[in-house]
Amino acid sequence: MSSNTVRTRFAPSPTGFMHVGNLRTALYAYLISKSQGGKFILRIEDTDQNRYVEGAVDVIYRTMKSAGLIHDEGPDVGGEYGPYVQSERKNMYKPYAEELVRKGAAYYCFCDKTEHESGEEASEENPADHLCPCRDLDPAEAQARVDAGMPYAIRQKIDRTGTSTYNDCVFGEITIENKVLDDQILLKRDGMPTYNFANVIDDHTMNITHVVRGSEYLPSTPKYNLLYAAFGWQPPEYVHLPMIMGRNEDGSIAKLSKRHGSVSFESLVAEGYLPEAIVNYIALLGWSPKNDREIFAFDELVAMFKTSGLNKSAAVFDYDKLKWMNTEYIKALPPEEFAERAKSFAGVAGTPVEPHWPMLAGLLQPRTEILSEIAGKIAFLQALPEYDKALFNNKKSKCDPEKARAILQDLRPLYAELNDWNSEAITQLVTDYAMQKEMKLGLPMWALRIAVSGTAVTPGGPGEIMTVLGKAESLNRIDKALAEL
Ligand code: GLU
Repeated sequence: MSSNTVRTRFAPSPTGFMHVGNLRTALYAYLISKSQGGKFILRIEDTDQNRYVEGAVDVIYRTMKSAGLIHDEGPDVGGEYGPYVQSERKNMYKPYAEELVRKGAAYYCFCDKTEHESGEEASEENPADHLCPCRDLDPAEAQARVDAGMPYAIRQKIDRTGTSTYNDCVFGEITIENKVLDDQILLKRDGMPTYNFANVIDDHTMNITHVVRGSEYLPSTPKYNLLYAAFGWQPPEYVHLPMIMGRNEDGSIAKLSKRHGSVSFESLVAEGYLPEAIVNYIALLGWSPKNDREIFAFDELVAMFKTSGLNKSAAVFDYDKLKWMNTEYIKALPPEEFAERAKSFAGVAGTPVEPHWPMLAGLLQPRTEILSEIAGKIAFLQALPEYDKALFNNKKSKCDPEKARAILQDLRPLYAELNDWNSEAITQLVTDYAMQKEMKLGLPMWALRIAVSGTAVTPGGPGEIMTVLGKAESLNRIDKALAEL
């Protein structure tokens, strides 16, 4: 591998579901690497065993595969920088922590159950107010305690003076006063590294060139840079991504959460958003191409993605926009593919409707925004819904219950005699009838549609509906309507 190969990583903690914010991080890490011919690595960050959720890693694999984010290295595919699961790297971290102690950039802490033992959260108060007394222990004394078997954690020793500055690809130059940085725990008493330590060791030893992650890590990054400096390592490029917000009912915005709608990739897919539409939409949540284009095939995203298009202002997740995009993606699918992908949402498998599914799918495709609407749109085929005879009233076709009764009475015996039961013949019959009676076709069509579907808006007209229902059930439904009228 040449030393300037771009290597990015997606480093999720297995928490059980993939929030769209995490997916966007993964996508941008992928795009940054692939747009420059680089490698994309998956690393599972499971050092916080309290947060471990059974099956969570599978959710990560499934989501990434379905989103098309194929990693070059990772726990399942291996690679020369493995292992790619932090808990399996456990023994690698201690020697590095000890090296920092020797260099004076870290110290042993013997305090009982040290605060922030989990080490994942940064302190909000001024850490200078409660510096750990172990910080100033004589190193020989500290070593003696370690040798005597006293339990210890290892903390980073941060100079209390001066400032730290670094450049972030998205947020620009960031300067923080060192005195606000806490002596964070690097190695816990159980020997596990904290995220704060492991991310540095892993990113360095995995040759990661660009660290792409959420902006919540912006304030801790100076501490990571101090670690890189203590080791004499080159820090990576940082690409911190702004938060994804949701719009509240009152119009204000807040961090995107379940109250705004589905927030995990899998729940959006279950709602009937196509993975490729979700990925396309998410790509635009914080990145803008030079032109105002919005629909991008995945390969086009790879070709066009540039970090200079990343935006530092928070992005608002707009469900209507996603729905619009999904509709566009649905319309663009080849009909057979739409039929196949939408079928499980239609609930037709094993029902009498199933043989007619390809035809129905053809009718539904231009009218579907999200796939989960489909079952509701065709439910009347499985069972005639209860409906009010007022439904026979229709302004446009000038239909009313009275006219509908007369028309259905006429049509009932004609359909009973029709043997060639298919959409064309069914429609031809009512067309001939309208001609003969000198009425607009819309009128008997409306009466028929309501009678056979009990629904004002249906995919397809009476011809298609009655074909799917079959002759017996169609006549049955006409009889039912007549009984009501
Ligand atoms: N495990 C961290 C998270 O899920 C990753 C942060 C990073 O990418 O460095 O938030």
